[in-house]
Amino acid sequence: MTTTAAAPTTVRSSYDELLRRSKEATILGSACSVLHWDKETYMPPAGGENRAEQLTLLAGIIHDRCVDPAWGELLAKCEASELVKDKSSTEAVNIRELRRMYDRETKLPKRLVEEFVRTSSLSQEAWVTARKESDFSKFQPWLEKLIKLSREKADCWGYEKNPYDALLDEFEPYETCENVTRIFDGLQGELVPIIERIAGAPKRPDKSILTRAYPIEKQQAFCRKAAEAIGFDFQSGRIDTVVHPFCSGMGPGDTRITTRYNERFLNEAFFGTMHETGHALYDMGLPREHYGTPMGSSVSLGIHESQSRMWENFVGRSPAFWRFFLPEAAKAFPEALSGARSEAFLHAVNTVEPSYIRVEADEATYNLHIVLRFELEQAMLSGKLGVKDLPAAWNKRFKELLGIAVPDDRRGCLQDVHWSFGHIGYFATYTLGNLYAAQFYAQAKKDVPGLEDSFAKGDFTPLLGWLRKNIHGQGMRLRAGELIRAVTGRPLSHADLVSHLKAKFEPMYGL
Ligand code: ZN
Repeated sequence: MTTTAAAPTTVRSSYDELLRRSKEATILGSACSVLHWDKETYMPPAGGENRAEQLTLLAGIIHDRCVDPAWGELLAKCEASELVKDKSSTEAVNIRELRRMYDRETKLPKRLVEEFVRTSSLSQEAWVTARKESDFSKFQPWLEKLIKLSREKADCWGYEKNPYDALLDEFEPYETCENVTRIFDGLQGELVPIIERIAGAPKRPDKSILTRAYPIEKQQAFCRKAAEAIGFDFQSGRIDTVVHPFCSGMGPGDTRITTRYNERFLNEAFFGTMHETGHALYDMGLPREHYGTPMGSSVSLGIHESQSRMWENFVGRSPAFWRFFLPEAAKAFPEALSGARSEAFLHAVNTVEPSYIRVEADEATYNLHIVLRFELEQAMLSGKLGVKDLPAAWNKRFKELLGIAVPDDRRGCLQDVHWSFGHIGYFATYTLGNLYAAQFYAQAKKDVPGLEDSFAKGDFTPLLGWLRKNIHGQGMRLRAGELIRAVTGRPLSHADLVSHLKAKFEPMYGL
């Protein structure tokens, strides 16, 4: 493949050339994904510097190709044609999104792109050490560089009111900080009283059932079984073990998820696998014929996260799911679960209580962890908060939001990998994901009668089919805000998530 093909003469051939270039860039990007996956799974520790060079070189090559002025000419030709007449046609959507990508990419100088990739690749290693030793000073200079580079990126991209908007737009296209703040404020206002009432509730779960003996090989088999039951195709994917679980869609036929195991705690691997499988099902369900173009891509990180959180929480923590899976679990872990009462087990996996680690947080308090990060990211980016003051600011606000004192930075501001990747403007997408999940799920229950009855029989195809039709199969046809309106008839709000939390937790906690 080459980018120096003869100049196309017709509109159709210009469009085809645009798609060819888009596919090439996607394939190069997927090669980077393999390198990232290997870095997190099997690369020996000393390979880090060379891997950073590989990733930097590839990022530079992709950037060079994507800022080729020929893209601009092809786009202009297509935009002036009949191809964009019907805004929801495949052609119009591809042209719209490729224009967006081209405009963003051409605003970034190559130096900044390369410096960002190199810095973030190396800063991850600094973060691993800092977190292990709970020593923020080892990560601080790297985070300072990444904030500075992120600010530069935002300035290159431009923004109307807030530099955060320019960064958020990378992960959640077309979303704004103002709108997210409004939705989060509404959510927080309802969430805090729910969490407080639960804290004083008469019925308490007994979590000890989850910290009994869960041999790792048995967990591997059990997680695999659950992933397969909800639709993960092992001919097109695999599960590996890592410190920080993630999902990577390399392209058609190759979607990889990762998890981590704790032999004295079932939740980590099990709900982690359900979560990452949710991401994988989205990638596996994207229209293959549009691979390498916007029509074959996911809408946004918030919509991606809605898929993972739906399978993890709305399905994986539901009574119907465990009606089928608890007897299976008791067979797999007889020492821990023989004779376990389903009500007790279900309450244990739905424990709501403030905790330090975001990825282990329950469905309700989780969102306060995101509010914290959303506020701090904005403060660091605007310069209101110096990076050196991050630990103190984190601990203070954490106490205000969750009511518990952070014991050390490992369980505080060093817990997440994302900032070391340079993902600033990213965390909001997690709570957006919870909100989208709740609203989509409420609609799925209306559209598919007996949806949860099928879970109890171990059949998840009705839900997967609904998601395939309404979300996965649509690629980027609609923007996130349009998609939620089209599927549920309403704009995104906090209402369905709040109703879900109340309906689930109030009876469980005797409220
Ligand atoms: Zn996720």
